[in-house]
This record gives sequence, structure tokens and C-alpha cells, in this order.
Amino acid sequence: MPRPGETVRGIELCQYPGGKGANQAVAASRLDAAVAFFGKVGADGFGDELLDALRADGVDVAGVERADGVATGTASIWVDAAGENAIACVAGANGAVDGAYVERTLDRLAAADVVLVQFEIPIAAVSRLLERLPRGRPLVVLDPAPAGDVFALPLERVDVLTPNETELEALTGLADPERAARHLLERGVGLVVLKEGARGATAYGDETVHVAAFDVCVVDTTAAGDAFTAALAVALGEWPLRQALHFANAAGALATTQPGAQPSLPTRDAVEALLGRSLRRKP
Ligand code: ADP
Repeated sequence: MPRPGETVRGIELCQYPGGKGANQAVAASRLDAAVAFFGKVGADGFGDELLDALRADGVDVAGVERADGVATGTASIWVDAAGENAIACVAGANGAVDGAYVERTLDRLAAADVVLVQFEIPIAAVSRLLERLPRGRPLVVLDPAPAGDVFALPLERVDVLTPNETELEALTGLADPERAARHLLERGVGLVVLKEGARGATAYGDETVHVAAFDVCVVDTTAAGDAFTAALAVALGEWPLRQALHFANAAGALATTQPGAQPSLPTRDAVEALLGRSLRRKP
């Protein structure tokens, strides 16, 4: 790990497509949803690669714009021999997603069954989107990651909020998950689905529903949250809450069994196979 002013020799440089929005789009597409991705990339090679990766997974990228004069959003991650890491994220083109872009894409977004949005674009753009989407439909799933000021948003237009435990506390300042979730519900959120890592997930709404995690062989938990959130968004369009949670829980678990982010996102067949096995195990 270089200290300020120091140069060290590295061993290997790897490059992977990523970003929460892109990961979730790929995850939803592998679960057989028809997915269109919206956002901005830079007019650079990283942008080309990101769009190619999305297309290769069947994601429609016709609505993506190239931002002038800024680079594609990136995260540079240094990992030392002990596995310790240091990360520098540059929002780049993501930071250029603004109200005018939301207006240009609104018709297509409003025609979707589900809109899944993250906090890797400016909060003002998220706010505009929530204000401008028609009431009732599409279903809005907001993944508040990285944690930001959710209370600046019209939360009554958020049908489902999907924080992990760290994010829930950061959003609300409340350490008790139940109290934190209730606080968000009182402010207008329809349902809070808390991702609890190796303990599974809990949905707080009119009723509280917990699903215990699947017992899998964990290799790398990167993108487990993205797999879970995308699967939940896909499943809520199809099934009641408890079944949708079960489906998302299976997708999250499978993402931990493979290394990497996008390579580890499971297909629908894999999720159904895990669900089928678990159903068969029941007495
Ligand atoms: P994030 O990746 O956003 O931090 P979590 O770590 O809570 O989110 O993981 C998201 C979901 O993935 C969990 O709610 C659970 O369904 C699944 N998951 C994560 N870790 C494990 C694990 N060790 N075993 C089984 N499932 C897991």
C-alpha cells in the first residue's frame, strides 16, 4: 500500500465492470426480467466496456447518455498482501445525471413495471425522479447505497427501501433496526427490507417478515446485496412479499458462492434450483 509520496511495485492490475446500478441491471436480466439501464458514462474506453458488458447480459442501454468532458465513474481499489484494501471512487459521469436527464427519460421510466434506483447518482436526480414518476405504478425500489440523505426525498413515492445494516443506521442515526425501519415507514416509505448478511433479511411493513439465510459455502460476499436487491425487485412484480423475500434471499446467497461482482450474479435457473432443493428439504 503506497504511503503519500511513495511509489510501490504492484503485482497485478485487474479491471471489472461494476457500479451498483450496472450490477443490479445485470442481476435482474439474469433473472429473466426485461431490463433497461439509465444513466451516464463518459466518452472513454471504460464507458464502452461498461456498455458492452451490459449488452452482453441482454440489458437495453439505448437510454444511456455519454457525458462530455468527464470520465466514466470508477472505483480504484488497492489490495495489499494482507487483503487490506483502500478505495478511491470517482463519480465522473454519474455526477452528470441531473433533472434534465430525468425529464428526457421519464416516459420510458414511467412505462416500466419496476424502477430500481441507487444512490450512485446525485440525490437531486433521485429526488426529481421520485417527484415525476406517476403515483401507484411503477413500483419504486430504492437501494440507499452508498448511504445518503434519504429524508431529502419524497419518501411517500418509495415503495420499497433496501438498506443493509450499516446503511440503515447511517440513514437514520438509530442503532436499533426495528426502530430505524419504523422511523422510515412513518416518513412515508412503503416497506423497508433490511439485508442482514449471514442472518438473511427482514421486511418491515404492515407485518414483519424474516427469512433466515441459506446455508451456502461462502467464497466472496461482493455484490450479494446487489443480487438480493435486483431479485427482490424482479420478484415483487410476480409474487407476494414472503415468496419474493425467499427468492431474493436465494439470489443473495448464491452471489456469495462465487468470486467477483458481475460474474457471481446468479441466473434464474440457479436460484430456482436452490429454492427447489430447500423446498424438498422441508419435512
Ligand atoms: P450488502 O452486500 O449490501 O452488504 P448483505 O451482506 O446483507 O448486503 O447481503 C445481502 C443478502 O445476501 C443477504 O440479505 C442474504 O440474503 C445474502 N447473504 C449475504 N451474506 C450471506 C451469507 N454469508 N450466507 C448466506 N446468504 C448471505
